[in-house]
Amino acid sequence: MPTTCVVGILWGDEGKGKVIDYLAAEADFVVRYGGGHNAGHTLILPSGKLVLHLVPSGIVHTHTRNVIGNGVVVDPVHLCGEIESLRGRGIAVELGRNLLLSERAHVILEAHRRQDHWAESVRSGGRIGTTGRGIGPAYADRCSRIGLRLGDLLDEARLRRGVQVIAEQKNAWFEPVGLEPLQVDAVVEQLLAAGAKLRAGIVDTGGVLRRAFADGKRVLLEGAQGCLLDLEHGTYPFVTSSHASTGGAFSGTGLPPHVMRVVGIAKAYATRVGEGPFPTELNNETGERLRAAGKEYGSTTGRPRRCGWFDTVAVRYSGAVSGASELVLTNLDVLRGFAPLRLAVAYRLPDGTRTTDLPAFDLDRAVPEFEDLPGFDVDVSEVRRFEDLPANARNYVQAIERLTGLPIRTISVGPGRNQVVLR
Ligand code: GDP
Repeated sequence: MPTTCVVGILWGDEGKGKVIDYLAAEADFVVRYGGGHNAGHTLILPSGKLVLHLVPSGIVHTHTRNVIGNGVVVDPVHLCGEIESLRGRGIAVELGRNLLLSERAHVILEAHRRQDHWAESVRSGGRIGTTGRGIGPAYADRCSRIGLRLGDLLDEARLRRGVQVIAEQKNAWFEPVGLEPLQVDAVVEQLLAAGAKLRAGIVDTGGVLRRAFADGKRVLLEGAQGCLLDLEHGTYPFVTSSHASTGGAFSGTGLPPHVMRVVGIAKAYATRVGEGPFPTELNNETGERLRAAGKEYGSTTGRPRRCGWFDTVAVRYSGAVSGASELVLTNLDVLRGFAPLRLAVAYRLPDGTRTTDLPAFDLDRAVPEFEDLPGFDVDVSEVRRFEDLPANARNYVQAIERLTGLPIRTISVGPGRNQVVLR
């Protein structure tokens, strides 16, 4: 199959960066289809650690063309900085050659960041836990049909008209609520400067990808965040503002719908950053041990991640929604020394009913039922063959397969590129 889509199965941070890096070796194109620079993929390269926010992970491979698709929202100032820092690391980034930017991708403005912080600060009933980077407001402006697109940065008159419209809409309420208004000239000047730097890369990426697809090129689609943060299918309203699951892969790139291989990435336990329901969360010493063992701190924000047991109810749901045909299980090494290993197999709902489906409401009141398995207290980070894993680790992997219905052929046992167990 020429197209592979890599999606996070729960709330992101599953280690997609490493898996994409691994699969990119075989890809002609690596494409981001959604999200913004709130996403962070961590790669451990021979030269050291590299965290990417917006640029697709294929950038470290010399043969791949990397695409920021139309479904992504782009902060042009951030993108220029990320490109500079990659070049500073000796990674060749040539706009128009190995990095292409959709002319249709929407633009994040400084005003969106101000709006983001303001919306969180006044929200009653609990924060959403956004990264405050203006991503939600930029998507909202896209829906309100006042957004700017990257292609607008290449035409001063069109850009000025667009900024004028946004300023009219936003300043009418920014000023009354005490937010700094948009200064049209300053915004235009800043965006023109960023547009001049990015110009060579801003193209019709949908057309490029459709031609590549027709020519049988291998396209790797890189999901950001995870299925349970999908705007439609996630744990609404504690979700991101884009279609993080596989559905976004077509609308966010302009590729025609077609059958593709979907690889779901799941950690051997569960984590979540920010607010929102998390049935298997461990608010205790075991959770703290998991956080420490897995170094569970956000790669973009440094926020501590909430940790809990593997949830087969949630994974089965996300597997179905995303169309995943297999799971890659990451961070198995982290579970060393934890016993028993617990797998959530069902939820008990507030009305007493038992369910094995993920409910759309009241997930925060669902109490998980667990199946307990014996642990393993062996360092597995150097294991490369499934048969060489301790029996209890193999049992655990096989129990996840049985309970989720998804085969696991690839197991990651450490952050390094070669720390992979294949079956
Ligand atoms: P992504 O957004 O899904 O790419 O996830 P992140 O890159 O934010 O987080 C994954 C983190 O786990 C990174 O620090 C990786 O280097 C690290 N990592 C990936 N796979 C493994 C693994 O199998 N074991 C361990 N211990 N760490 C891993």
